[in-house]
Amino acid sequence: MVLILFDCTCFYNKIDKFMNAAVFYGPNNIKVENVNIKKRNNNECLLKVLSCSVCSYDIRTFRNGHFKVTPPIILGHEICAQIVDGFYEKDINIKSGTRVSIYPVIPCLICWYCKNKKYNLCTNLKEIGSSINGGFAEYILIPKTIFKIGGIVSILDNITNEEASLIEPLACCINSVNQIKNFEFGSVIILGDGPIGLMQLMLIKRSFKVNVTVIGKISHRLGLARKLGADLTILLEIDDNIDNYIERYKKYLKEVGEEFSPNVIFVSNNNPSSLNLAIKLVNKNGKIVLFSGIKNQNNENKMLTNIDPNFIHYNQVSIFGSFSSTPNDMSEAMKIINFKEINLRSLITHEFSLFKIKDAFDTSESYKGFKSIINKF
Ligand SMILES: [Zn+2]
Ligand SMILES: [Zn+2]
Repeated sequence: MVLILFDCTCFYNKIDKFMNAAVFYGPNNIKVENVNIKKRNNNECLLKVLSCSVCSYDIRTFRNGHFKVTPPIILGHEICAQIVDGFYEKDINIKSGTRVSIYPVIPCLICWYCKNKKYNLCTNLKEIGSSINGGFAEYILIPKTIFKIGGIVSILDNITNEEASLIEPLACCINSVNQIKNFEFGSVIILGDGPIGLMQLMLIKRSFKVNVTVIGKISHRLGLARKLGADLTILLEIDDNIDNYIERYKKYLKEVGEEFSPNVIFVSNNNPSSLNLAIKLVNKNGKIVLFSGIKNQNNENKMLTNIDPNFIHYNQVSIFGSFSSTPNDMSEAMKIINFKEINLRSLITHEFSLFKIKDAFDTSESYKGFKSIINKF
């Protein structure tokens, strides 16, 4: 009798219900509708969404579309949710009611990268909120493959739903900071004063004793950067001559005695000219970590910068990419949040109902606060 109950390959909960969801139909076209959610097979699990944070990727896709996204689809990949139909299968025991954070990569498990647990680099990459429906909805169906690779992280009681939805972007920041783990450097520059730039600032200050400069365009955001530990912030005015603030930064480095030591520069905003700026600011033997996807209306794959090979060679400069995260980064992010090692709550500035998703996008897009989170459905 017990064996039959646990034999999930032939017996499972069929689900066929309606829910509210924000469906993306194409650039500038998103509609909150009552849609049918159907569990088609035993390879997916139903979860109730508790909160889903707005990422700049969602906004870029909403405005311009994205080469990875085929509408109609539900966006949203920074998700905290609750298991509805728990299951027990080959060492995985998922109880109904458990609050979890979801790793948004669906790995193929066949390619070299998947076999080496670098699921974010899977050659057959599929993602929640891009290739399959995401978290801007009342419910979500998650492939069991994500459970199998440890991508469903149980949330401890003292973490709020809103904080839990930031585990995914924090994991991405951990992956970016890991790119410089074994490198000796004198200072860090973060190009970007958004939630990602500030999470990186907090992670770097937690692990390294180095000066960190945050360069951004929004003065209230730079104010919070200083409160969170930035040694120097530089406001980039719209008409600023690029050489002026490079001067200011170099003067500051002279004062702190680090003019010539190798530096690390994180490109953590989607402005196409940021990589050019990073190349102007990088010291000899310095490293540039390219975190963000770059905004480009016509073709996101297009090469944006001509890089002089002699500059890279004679200055021994390196450029690193950093994309998404691994399940290990998700677990580490959860621990950091649980032990309150960084101040994530200061980044949660706006909460919205699903029906106001366009307002949430507008708020993020106009840099009014930091993170806008959908938490009422
Ligand atoms: Zn994101
Ligand atoms: Zn793969």
